[in-house]
Parts: sequence; C-alpha cells; structure tokens
Amino acid sequence: MVGAVNEPIPCPRCGAPSRFLLQPRDRAQGAPVAIRLCTSAVCGVGFTDPAPGDAAPAPAAAPGGEVEERLALRVVAAGMAPLASRLAPGSLVVDVGAGSGLRARALAARGLRVIAVEPDAVEEMRAHAMMSTLPAGRVTVVRAGAEHLDEVMEGRRADAAVMWHVLEHLPHMDRGLAAVGRVLRPGGLLNVAVPNRDSAEARAFGPRWHGWEPSRHRWHLDADALRLVLGAAGFSVADIGTRGGWGYPSGLAYSLAPGLDPQVHPRRGLLGRALSAALIPVAGAARALGQGGQLVTIARRAGEP
Ligand SMILES: [Zn+2]
Repeated sequence: MVGAVNEPIPCPRCGAPSRFLLQPRDRAQGAPVAIRLCTSAVCGVGFTDPAPGDAAPAPAAAPGGEVEERLALRVVAAGMAPLASRLAPGSLVVDVGAGSGLRARALAARGLRVIAVEPDAVEEMRAHAMMSTLPAGRVTVVRAGAEHLDEVMEGRRADAAVMWHVLEHLPHMDRGLAAVGRVLRPGGLLNVAVPNRDSAEARAFGPRWHGWEPSRHRWHLDADALRLVLGAAGFSVADIGTRGGWGYPSGLAYSLAPGLDPQVHPRRGLLGRALSAALIPVAGAARALGQGGQLVTIARRAGEP
C-alpha cells in the first residue's frame, strides 16, 4: 500500500487540496502499485502521484503486418473524419504526438497538409517510413514535443491541431495547450481525445482499468475537467462525445485481458486487436449511453477566423 492515502496532497495543476481516487493495479501481475490517483477538489482534474517519469516506458505499439496496418488505418480514418469534414482541402493540420503517423496519413488521404510532431525517436522513424509512399510535401514529420511547437511552426499558423491521447501524458498540460493555441489561427480547431475516467468501463474495472496507465498517464479527465482545461487555454468547447472499443487504446479489451495488451506483451498485438473487434457491440452500447472509454471533442480557438 501507498502510505497515508488519506493525507490530502495539493493538485499539481491548481494547488487546491485533492481527494484520493484509487490505487491502480499493475495490469501484468495484478498487484497494487505504489502509486495513487487523486482528483483536485477545485479544478476537478485527476492526477497520478507520484508523477510518471520523463522516460515513459514502451510507446504505443504500432500495427505489425500489412493487413493489420490497413485495418488500423481504416479505424484511424474513421476517428479523423469529423475533423477532416470541417476543413477545406489543403488546410494545414498539426498532429501533436503523432506516434507512428497513422492519423497524419489518414488526414493526408483527405487532401489535408499535415505536420506530424512526435517526441519519441522510434515513433518518429516509423512515421517517416509510413509517409515514404505518399507524394512529397503532403506530410512533414518533425521530432519535437508539444512545448516546442513555436519553433516547429516558424511563424506559420495551422487551421487545426490534433492531440489524440496526448494531454494525459504531458508533464505540463496547460503549457502544452497554450503552445497549441499559439500556432493555431484564430477560430482554428483542436481535436482532442483522452481516456474517460468517468466511463462505464473505468467504473466497472476500477483499479484494473486499462485507461489509468499510471506509469505513463499524468492526468485523468472526465468531461467537466476536459472542458475546464480547454476553456482555461482559450478554447471553446461545443460538446464532448465519447468513443469506445475498436481502435487504440482498446480500453475494454485490454482491461479484460491485460495479457493481450501490446504494451504489456508486444507480440500478442494481433490477438488483442481481435478481442477488441469482438467487443465492438459492447463498446458501441457504452458509447450510445455516453459512457464510452474515450472522451473526444473538437474545440475552437478564440478569435474570428
Ligand atoms: Zn487542480
């Protein structure tokens, strides 16, 4: 057990006292880990204590074979469709935390220009490889973190930005959002996805829920907290929806069978994705009830376009 779980510790974001939320379990062994999750009594943001280290272990697994990659691309394209449909062809999109580049590729396929920004060297290399078959100039891959967007953009303004399962990882969430706000044009769009700490699956699995990922996730948001941090960074949020199931992170599948999580056992990725596919109806039902495992929103930067 973590010592003194009832002792209130200040929210690292706003300094207010916090409430103990839960002690997550190690998903490979099932044992409690010496980490606790708390939520701020004032801003409502949840956080991991102690904070994950800078050297986060194991980046998200990239799809393995050609078939798997094509499937993953279709899933990702569906996730990007709501944003892409709001943008004119040729619009400039910055994918912050682009990972292996699937989202950038899906956006490029919709006729958008993409700057894919990724801090991890291995992921950046994968992203470069993924763009090798695209016409030159469609996607630019740059190795950088969210806080260095100003240097990456060199004065250019983007029409939209994507932070897909990125906010929960940032050591300084507000600074990262501010940096994105600076490189977006007034009225520009920000597409955000984060794990939904208030989802049906988070409540059902409790300390074993996949979405906590306490070794990698600094922040734990529900819809109100997400609305608050986006608002504080100058974004207006019309509505926040939920998604679940098929597609990374397949919270439901990996909560049920941690052994299939590619982040726990990289060689079982395909099996894990198969289980995720089998759970689509369950995840779909949860989403229909507003209880999906991920929160997704398209926010708008303040100012007239
Ligand atoms: Zn706070």
